Amino acid sequence: MSTPGSDQKPSGSLADRISQPPKNADAPAAAPATDETKAKTSWADEVASPPAESPKDVDKAQVDGSTEHQGGSALLPAGEYEVEVKLSDIQGDTSSPLYSINSFEELGISEQILKGIYSMNFKKPSKIQEKALPLLLANPPSNMIAQSQSGTGKTAAFVLTILSRIDYSLKQPQALVLAPSRELARQIEGVIRTIGQFVPDLVVQAAVPGSVEKGKRLEGQVVVGTPGTVMDLIKRRQFDVSKASLLCLDEADNMLDQQGLGDQCLRVKHLLPNLTQILLFSATFPEEVMQYARKFSPKANEIKLKHEELTVAGISQMFMDCPSEDGKYDILVKLYGLMTIGSSIIFVKKRETASRIEKAMIADGHQVAALHGAFEGAERDSIIDKFRSGEAKILITTNVLARGIDVQSVSMVINYDIPMKGRNETEPDFETYLHRIGRTGRFGRVGVSISFVFDKKSFMALKAIAEHYGIDLIKLNWEDWDETEDIVQRVIKSSRAGTNFKGN
Ligand code: ADP
Ligand code: MG
Repeated sequence: MSTPGSDQKPSGSLADRISQPPKNADAPAAAPATDETKAKTSWADEVASPPAESPKDVDKAQVDGSTEHQGGSALLPAGEYEVEVKLSDIQGDTSSPLYSINSFEELGISEQILKGIYSMNFKKPSKIQEKALPLLLANPPSNMIAQSQSGTGKTAAFVLTILSRIDYSLKQPQALVLAPSRELARQIEGVIRTIGQFVPDLVVQAAVPGSVEKGKRLEGQVVVGTPGTVMDLIKRRQFDVSKASLLCLDEADNMLDQQGLGDQCLRVKHLLPNLTQILLFSATFPEEVMQYARKFSPKANEIKLKHEELTVAGISQMFMDCPSEDGKYDILVKLYGLMTIGSSIIFVKKRETASRIEKAMIADGHQVAALHGAFEGAERDSIIDKFRSGEAKILITTNVLARGIDVQSVSMVINYDIPMKGRNETEPDFETYLHRIGRTGRFGRVGVSISFVFDKKSFMALKAIAEHYGIDLIKLNWEDWDETEDIVQRVIKSSRAGTNFKGN
């Protein structure tokens, strides 16, 4: 981790802080964001007005209703920086995960499905789509374990495969997609509907709690669900598995690794007697999970990332060395007081923290929503829909939404708590960190992540994460908001020019 413009070691400043009494009582960071502080910052002013150019390329490239053009993160100041990276430029850059030489036509996809792709305004396949699809569509069908960075279009890769393999004259489940959360399952269902909108007899169904009436049989050729509900439906004979030939696990490492989830996935797999193709997709496949993945999806073609390719260049990763656990909230509101961003997600460890921050931020006048596992299905749907539509700009959530959620307008992710794993939450959770920050910087967009640390444990965990991925984390200073603003300005500028900000 490095501090831009200084040689000061972050560990030094943290050590100082630990050995000294916290200065939070009178510190500027502790002050609520007043109109005065808002007025004096140019950061907020600049981001308030989005760029005036007309939307291009990827505007319609998702189904959640947000429209925003390439490079057009709402964090970007209007008109000041002329360099703009267009999707066509990125897709021509051989080192980009979005690079492609081919067109979708060359991949042998049917006319109706191609129409669906173009309706989403996809011009060219991304690297993962281009590499995976010829293997995925080949006959006889073969298994696949596919890894590609967050936001690079893995969904369309498996959706195109599924849509290409269905016998539409048959009104029976033929493909099953499993995802770790209700929200992700519904999102994938939406992508299938959109890409498949010109396929006349396509029926897609979600299998999440509450989505299938009691006693009613599934008629969708494609079923997208969470493992528990899918297993229930099969057991209750509402899900006829006899024609199910394709099984896809999105966020596969998480699905297979987590206790409970992994068992359920395995049981579901064993309940499908006629599988011919098993697909596993994720941005992360830690080595220990990979061995299990290979058992789950035997003799699979593998598309893997090199360790150094895991991070997404468009996401500028920063951290804030907070004075204390309690001091984090004041810094959070101060950050939001400084800037008007598009949409953002705040990740916390506990549900109670999410609810507490939600209440406090609402009282402070922010449009926020909190979503976590304690909410019931219908309520969860309405909360995420509110966030997708932009009605709530800030989503406070737990790891339940760390993976897969694709909302293009998200320009900032805050790790309010550093993701930890292990029995006593003692080890840094490298994968969850990557997935959380990957909620921004979708398909070539720029984004910012800010991770909060406040004590030795959180600092060391973040340091380990930075070292694991070889990231130069940029330090923000809560004791000097002018400097913090300046740093973010520089980062935004450099992100916009498509380079990786190194901080010195
Ligand atoms: P991943 O699963 O790899 O994290 P997604 O499948 O959610 O990423 O895709 C990220 C975003 O990129 C989505 O909004 C999707 O619509 C968009 N996208 C996917 N493929 C293309 C493409 N070929 N061209 C333009 N946009 C694309
Ligand atoms: Mg995904």
